[in-house]
Amino acid sequence: MENNQQTDVLVIAAHPDDAELSCGGTIANLTSFGKSVVIADCTRGELGSRGTIEIRAQEAANASEILGVQSRVNLGMPDGNILQSQENIHSMISLIRRFRPQIILFNPPYERHPDHESVHRLVRTAVFQSGLTKIETSFNGTLQQTHRPKQMFCYMQTYEFQPSFYVDISNVFETKMNAICAYSSQVFVEGKSDMNEPATFISNPDFMEMLEARARYFGALIGVRYAEPFLAIEPVGIPSIGIWL
Ligand SMILES: [Zn+2]
Repeated sequence: MENNQQTDVLVIAAHPDDAELSCGGTIANLTSFGKSVVIADCTRGELGSRGTIEIRAQEAANASEILGVQSRVNLGMPDGNILQSQENIHSMISLIRRFRPQIILFNPPYERHPDHESVHRLVRTAVFQSGLTKIETSFNGTLQQTHRPKQMFCYMQTYEFQPSFYVDISNVFETKMNAICAYSSQVFVEGKSDMNEPATFISNPDFMEMLEARARYFGALIGVRYAEPFLAIEPVGIPSIGIWL
């Protein structure tokens, strides 16, 4: 049996930049107090109107370094065509069993981009099946042990949902924005972005303002400067209301 590496939080995302845009602050917050975070991008974003696979891979590596993540992997699924296939489910189960996270953060169930919804569905299936002994997967030729994370939470992307909780990211907001600016082929970064590339939803300078405005709004709801919202798949309990005393 493989002696697996154990990571605290596994962030699963359809495209490189999904993680930074939607939960970069939460990741930076975790790594700031020594928790280990791994990001797994399902595709290389090869259908994106801007940038190339190579540029996007370099940008993802730079962003990972800014956020302090332990490692970043790519599952190599085809962008724009993430199927609920046995192969993809197995690849997701193998990922979960390889990193053995306590918490999984992933794409929400209702989204503008169909890949986001596909990844949500794949993760839900894989988390369940990852706990079943009769579903066998291997990594590097070694049979993997079963694993179920304690919690799975969806980060918020384009469509809003009623959040289950908000994470205060005020003290790491700058780190989040720096990580997002690593993707200068995708979002507008003054003096860095190529203005001859086709304009997209997120390449407009307004998009960066909108990101800040949303984070500020979610922060205002819980009395802090900036926050990121999450949807819990299962009910969340707290150890004691003493956390407020
Ligand atoms: Zn995406």
